[in-house]
Amino acid sequence: MTHYDYDLFVIGAGSGGVRAARLASELGARVGIAEEYRIGGTCVIRGCVPKKLLVYGSRYGSELADARGFGWTCEERRFDWPTLIHNVRREVDRLNGAYTRTLETAGVDRFLTRAALESPHEIKLADRDGALSAKTILVATGAHPVMPDVPGREHLISSNQCFELEQLPRSIAIVGAGYIGMEFASIFKGLGVAVTVIYRGEQVLRDFDMDLRDGVAEAMRNRGVDLRMDTDIASIEKEEAGYRVQLKRGDSIAADLVMAATGRAPNSAGFGLQQLGVELGWNGRIVVDEFSKSSVDSIYAVGDVTDRKNLTPVAIHEATALVETLFNERPTPVDHSFIPTAVFSQPEIGTVGLTEEKAREMHPHVDVYKANFRPLKTMVGGRDEKMLMKLVIDADSDKVLGCHILGSDAAEIVQMIAVALKLGVTKAQLDATMPLHPSAAEELVTLRHRWEAPAPVAGSDAAA
Ligand SMILES: Cc1cc2nc3c(=O)[nH]c(=O)nc-3n(C[C@H](O)[C@H](O)[C@H](O)COP(=O)(O)OP(=O)(O)OC[C@H]3O[C@@H](n4cnc5c(N)ncnc54)[C@H](O)[C@@H]3O)c2cc1C
Repeated sequence: MTHYDYDLFVIGAGSGGVRAARLASELGARVGIAEEYRIGGTCVIRGCVPKKLLVYGSRYGSELADARGFGWTCEERRFDWPTLIHNVRREVDRLNGAYTRTLETAGVDRFLTRAALESPHEIKLADRDGALSAKTILVATGAHPVMPDVPGREHLISSNQCFELEQLPRSIAIVGAGYIGMEFASIFKGLGVAVTVIYRGEQVLRDFDMDLRDGVAEAMRNRGVDLRMDTDIASIEKEEAGYRVQLKRGDSIAADLVMAATGRAPNSAGFGLQQLGVELGWNGRIVVDEFSKSSVDSIYAVGDVTDRKNLTPVAIHEATALVETLFNERPTPVDHSFIPTAVFSQPEIGTVGLTEEKAREMHPHVDVYKANFRPLKTMVGGRDEKMLMKLVIDADSDKVLGCHILGSDAAEIVQMIAVALKLGVTKAQLDATMPLHPSAAEELVTLRHRWEAPAPVAGSDAAA
């Protein structure tokens, strides 16, 4: 029998890699892991966690303003970016240490260096001679920001650099209106920065439910974010103070900083995957089967590098399923249905299941229920911002296909309703659930009137 140094060698110590390494080791496998940057990966070091802390920090300004309606006087408002970013970095360091200790305690060998594949069973580490061998290799190398290919692209920062800013800019132009663009637009706006979002599409947040897209765009404009749709950048030039973003349609925008939030691509190049014949998709994603196995028998992949659904809990879930399959004699395919997701914009979005548009493509009869209302808190706080709750129902089976929320605590509410959707909840079962009063979430179980599309106006194109 062939002897390998490891039963499992993991490349990339992010959400997926750390989980797979720890669980496999706890089940008795000999496990090694290589990380070229910092243990914890994107989520912990420069993604979900530091971002959410910035989101919290950015919300105090509007909350203090709303507090006036409740009798609070907060005259001396002052924000200090160095305090916030220092405290965020301290928490990131703490988590980096906690992840490292987790691997240590589980008995995983850690190599803080870049790894490459030499053969289907061999890994070459950048900081040493020779190769390590493993029965199975797991690629969990994540993804990187894609920068637009325009003159002056070297002046762009990505979300990565947002966590390294020593000073808060007075103004920022953000290129792209996906979830990362919208979240950073809200963070910067909340901290008092003048924000312009430039996006070549017709509306923000492509692939989200259209009501959410329209609702969040309107609310962010009302909060003072300059959203420019149907607009593409032509170039970025350095000026004496800041930068000038030239737009393709002729006008330009001056800003202290220009951030690209134009998508992310899998980290699959430059470490031997192509040479070994591992099949890659059009954007470089590793093509895997339902058990996360690549086209090469000994090589598996999980997380963003497979570009299935690029979220931390999904990477962790895929890693857990993989360990069950390989090391616990329980072949476990990954179920990617009903994944709840949030956009931590201001206001916030929480969503699970099919959008109305997708549901109408897939089901012959779709009913929609929605409520657009001012939450109780805003009545006294004074903020004129509505909350949206929407249910998309398969009219034939009464099953809830999708739930979409815009407003305070949307993410928290959607996490819980995702359980019900996953279990196949029907609209009748929601209706039979006792509301919790007073809350915003009670709207979801009290939506009684089917939404009817407005009748076309006589003489309009729609009526023609
Ligand atoms: C700004 C931002 C905000 C986000 N917010 C959220 C959120 O709110 N909720 C959510 O669920 N998801 C969020 N995500 C997405 C989430 O961070 C990713 O889906 C998740 O981290 C993917 O985990 P992973 O294990 O696939 O890869 P990663 O966590 O990216 O880990 C990959 C690791 O591999 C290392 N690596 C790469 N190549 C090599 C090599 N050759 N050798 C050694 N090491 C290597 C990298 O340095 C990295 O540490 C966010 C992402 C970003 C960028």
